[in-house]
Amino acid sequence: MEEKERYDVFIIGSGPAALFAAMRLERRGVRSIAVADRNSYPAGGLLNDGKLNFDPRVGIDPAELKIGSEETTRLMNEIKKDLEGFPHMRQVTVPEGNETIDVIRRIAAEHGVQFIAPEQWHWGTDRGKAAVDYLRGFLKNTSFLLKTEVSSLRKESSGEFTLLCDHRGRRLTCCARVVLAAPGRSGAYWFRDAARKLGAENNFGPIDVGIRLELNRTLYDSITDSVYDPKFIFKTDRHRDKVRTFCTNPGGRVRLENYGAFKLVNGDALGRRKTDNTNFALINTVALTEPLSDTTEFGQMIARQFHLLGGGSPIVQRVGDFREGRRSSPATFESRIRHFDFCRSTCKAVPGDITLGMPARIIDNLWESLKKLDKIVPGILHPSTLMYAPEIKFFDTHFPTGSDLETSVPGLFVAGDGTGKSRGIVGAAISGIIAARGIVAKYFS
Ligand SMILES: Cc1cc2nc3c(=O)[nH]c(=O)nc-3n(C[C@H](O)[C@H](O)[C@H](O)COP(=O)(O)OP(=O)(O)OC[C@H]3O[C@@H](n4cnc5c(N)ncnc54)[C@H](O)[C@@H]3O)c2cc1C
Repeated sequence: MEEKERYDVFIIGSGPAALFAAMRLERRGVRSIAVADRNSYPAGGLLNDGKLNFDPRVGIDPAELKIGSEETTRLMNEIKKDLEGFPHMRQVTVPEGNETIDVIRRIAAEHGVQFIAPEQWHWGTDRGKAAVDYLRGFLKNTSFLLKTEVSSLRKESSGEFTLLCDHRGRRLTCCARVVLAAPGRSGAYWFRDAARKLGAENNFGPIDVGIRLELNRTLYDSITDSVYDPKFIFKTDRHRDKVRTFCTNPGGRVRLENYGAFKLVNGDALGRRKTDNTNFALINTVALTEPLSDTTEFGQMIARQFHLLGGGSPIVQRVGDFREGRRSSPATFESRIRHFDFCRSTCKAVPGDITLGMPARIIDNLWESLKKLDKIVPGILHPSTLMYAPEIKFFDTHFPTGSDLETSVPGLFVAGDGTGKSRGIVGAAISGIIAARGIVAKYFS
């Protein structure tokens, strides 16, 4: 007979959604928990930057999680409490009593732009491992199955789940009464297929498509000195679309995310060492209806186009070249005469023309928003400012659930970014806590 490892709760993934869920399951007395991750270190996106937004308007959709504002704030305070003993957590935005925030909000409003300054904490990519080790320290009874990729799951007639895994190159079979899927964005499409085979309903959510700006930090310090990761939200005049700034990294670096068939841009910052630049994303929310509702296909089409145009790399264009309607080229990329040397790129992307790969509507929206932002923070559209593309956030797989985050398949719960329940570390952690609460209430009380 085939040997199986047995758990009460099997968690797929080891990012913030998974770790916070495991912590709550342990605290509520669940004895046998497995956290499985295909990577060798249990962290998911906790190793990335570690900017925590404690604001119900950012990175979380309370309506999706079916929680009110009081409950959202209470859960955010719980997470802060869990993290307050971590020595490298630094509060980087203190909204209370900050007069500069009121001034920025007023100037933004004059241009029809909404400005949000959330309470923010940061530890930096270089301290990500320490943060994960700190959180893992809370977990006493959880088994970590690392280098373990879950390849499929099925539901037995007994109601139990069987999970087939590749564990360090050999086959491992596990079974569990309850499965919590928190596969993040990198595992979203695998899980979508696996869950469909079980009969779990899902639909397509919107995606965010845009660019990452990198500029000499002196041009944006007047804002980021007060608000580490400022959120400007635009409604464009021409198309009435939503565009927003996202994931600002003062003194940070632009990074590439490798998705195999293409690469996307992103950004982070270290806690100890800073660059001369600041970067942030400017993204356009895209929802589709008929005849194409598949936002995944749409986003991948754009990503593949850039992959082709950039010879396998994302594309970068100087604002000075963009204004002139010409591509950036290696020959003039650092031109002193054009003041391009004012901002040295922190990332290897191919100089080119971003308008070749992006739909016109999105380019219109981004440029209109940038011009407004340049009125609020004059100077950001310096000729040296870099525009990298594509930056795409695939938050497109969405599972309809009740308030406990159980899917239409009994015993199968979901949490985190890969299932449409969050868009950031704090939101992912909150969804993990809610799922853990639901699991205990329904299956272990
Ligand atoms: C460069 C970068 C910077 C970022 N900076 C920030 C930031 O500053 N602040 C912020 O709030 N957010 C940031 N994010 C986003 C943040 O990382 C995510 O929002 C968050 O990690 C989502 O948590 P999660 O638990 O849903 O999934 P994840 O953290 O993505 O974890 C999912 C895990 O599941 C594993 N997995 C997937 N499929 C399988 C499978 N089949 N079998 C086994 N394991 C599997 C993956 O290996 C992964 O480790 C950043 C992201 C990137 C890429």
